[in-house]
This record gives sequence, structure tokens and C-alpha cells, in this order.
Amino acid sequence: MFEYSDRLKVLPPYLFAELDRKKQEKIEQGVDVIDLGVGDPDMPTPKPILEAAKKALENPENHQYPSYVGKLAFREAVANWYKKRFGVDLDPQSEVITLIGSKEGIAHFPLAFVNPGDIVLCPDPAYPVYKIGAIFAGGTPYTVPLKEENNFLPDLDSIPKDVVEKAKIIWINYPNNPTSAPPTLEFYEKLVDWAKKNNVIIASDNAYSEIYTGTEKPPSILQVPGAKDVAIEFHSLSKTYNMTGWRIGMAVGNKELVAGLGKVKTNVDSGQFGAVQDAGIAALNLPEEEVEKIRNVYRERKKIMTEALEKIGLEIYKSDYTFYLWIKVPKGYTSAEFVGRLIDEAGIVCTPGNGFGEYGEGYFRISLTVPTERLLEAAERIKNLKL
Ligand SMILES: *Cc1c(COP(=O)(O)O)cnc(C)c1O
Repeated sequence: MFEYSDRLKVLPPYLFAELDRKKQEKIEQGVDVIDLGVGDPDMPTPKPILEAAKKALENPENHQYPSYVGKLAFREAVANWYKKRFGVDLDPQSEVITLIGSKEGIAHFPLAFVNPGDIVLCPDPAYPVYKIGAIFAGGTPYTVPLKEENNFLPDLDSIPKDVVEKAKIIWINYPNNPTSAPPTLEFYEKLVDWAKKNNVIIASDNAYSEIYTGTEKPPSILQVPGAKDVAIEFHSLSKTYNMTGWRIGMAVGNKELVAGLGKVKTNVDSGQFGAVQDAGIAALNLPEEEVEKIRNVYRERKKIMTEALEKIGLEIYKSDYTFYLWIKVPKGYTSAEFVGRLIDEAGIVCTPGNGFGEYGEGYFRISLTVPTERLLEAAERIKNLKL
């Protein structure tokens, strides 16, 4: 009786629906399903953050409407963290805004700057929210392919001139989900230069900056001199501190861009719960050793799973970033066919590469967010499939 709006009707098809259905079916049949599909840390939020949250609950100031842009204390903690981690100076008053998880900010941002007819340059494969946010704002997403031969960095020179002219925003996300590809400062420098020349906003999603398994720390785009003239960066406490359920993130950078996002948010939400922001302050002040402990778990899982899967003959894109493995599907399969076989015959849920866009075809993604013994069990089951 009630017809969906056109903006809902034009959304890309939900490719995971069939996979979800199969997963539920297997669980009902009593299969011990191993879910390597979702990128959601399995470890608990560190204790000092929980303690701060418990204390913050008791503070009546937190029981009233929070500030739209977030507590100044949280924004100061963000600015201090950016200074310490990236050497980037931010004014907490005008260059930082609190988000109800970075997904919220990513989805809302185009509403502030995109008009119908404007193009939003979206990488592919990618986190689906970039495209969806563009569509909700009435803009037109334009696919920028990320190819393995370019280390999954976009080829800016291959975007047609007439597209660049209409482009308002370019989304980037490094360390990258789903491919695990790292950023390089050289690429960031080139991108800032290109964005200034073409009057395009850079929207960088840096949710995985702390999830590295080598020794090299990924940079922020704001480290490039002059980046603040054209860039906003979205960040999140979700992945760094095992806080996906808390919904706390931030956007930082160019103050007009931050203010535009703030204007949208003022009109649609009422800010994040003060106690969650207080917990976020404790997270950002957590000693680095605590985060290193979390990284060490991913280091071990990545090493063990990479070895196990390579022994079976699977081809993994080698990277020291994120908690994902981006793997070629064996010859003769599409992504959907192979992932279908994994759930049907091995009880393993993985994400088909084409779920992240057409250029993800030929790959599948494994999330290292289950204990090592479950990863090894999954590897053993795949081995027994005799691919
Ligand atoms: C997990 C993730 C986020 C963070 O989401 P939150 O809403 O902050 O929990 C953002 N971007 C990408 C690419 C992600 O994978």
C-alpha cells in the first residue's frame, strides 16, 4: 500500500540478503557456522573506558540533551589525539565535530554540499555508505575503480574531464575496507593538489588508521600541507577501541566543511549521549600499550590465517593494514559462487567482493574478528573442500 520513495528504490540491491538467508538456514539445521563476514571486533571494550562510562552515567549533566556538535572536552581530546598521532593541529571549536559513529557523518555529509546534478566520486570496491549518502542527497555517484595493479588507489587522471567538472566530493578510505590497501603520502599529496585545482572536496574515511599489523603507521590526509583547505576526515573509535556498539566518531578538518555537516546534524539529531562522549575521552587517552595489545591479536590472527590459506593455494593481497584479508576467488568461480560454496559446504560466511561494488568481483573478504582457533577451523574446512 505504501510505496517506497524513489531514493530508496534506486539503492543498489542488497547483495548480502541471499547470504543472510543461507546463514540462517544453516544455523537452523544445526551447522556450526563460522562467521567471517562482518567487520566487527570480537574483543571487549578496554576496562578503563568502561570505568569512565560508569562514572559518567552518574553525572546528571549527561542526562540532559547533549550539545549538537559534541562536548568541547571530547573535541579537545580529539584535537590532542590528532596532534599526538599525526602531528596535525586542529581547533577543537571549529575544526572538530562529534559524530554518532562515523557512518552517521559519512551518510549526512553530502546533504550539506551536494545538489541534484552534482557528482560524487565514489571508489569501488568500497564501504557502501559513500554511494548511498550521495544518492540520498540527490547527487549522482560516479564509480572510480580501485584496481590491484594500482595498489587499489584511484587513478585520478582517468576520470573524464566533464565528470571532474561536475564533481563536488571525492571519497577515499585508507587503510582500505575491503581491500586492506594502505595509503601513501605521495598519493595524498597528489590528491590534495588535484582537488584544489578542480575545486573538489576530499572526504577521507580513516576508520582503520590504528589497525596496522606491521610497524609503519598509516598517515592522515591532513598531514599534507594545505590539505585543510579542501579536506574533511571522518574517524571513529569503533575499530581502534572495540567500540562499535557505542556509536562514537568524529569529523575533522576544514572548518566550512565541518560547519556544513554540523548544520545538517543540528536539524536531524541531537548529538551523542554525554556519557558515551566521556567514555570516548577515556578511549582517546588510553595508553598506547593498550591499543598495541589489540593490534597484537590481529597480528597473530593475520599471520596464522595467511599461512593456512596460502598453504591451500589461495592468493591473498599482501598488506599490513586493517583486520581483513582480501583474497582472489579460485579460478572458475564468481565471487558469489565461491562464497555460496563456502556457506553451503563448509558452513563459513565470507563477504563476496562484488558486495562492495562491481570492481570487487573476483575477490572475497575475510574478517579476522574471530579467535584464532575458529580461523584455523575455517581454514581446515576450506582445505577439505578440495578446491
Ligand atoms: C567500520 C567502518 C567505519 C566506522 O563505522 P562507525 O559508524 O564509526 O562504527 C567507517 N568506514 C568504514 C570503511 C568502516 O569499515
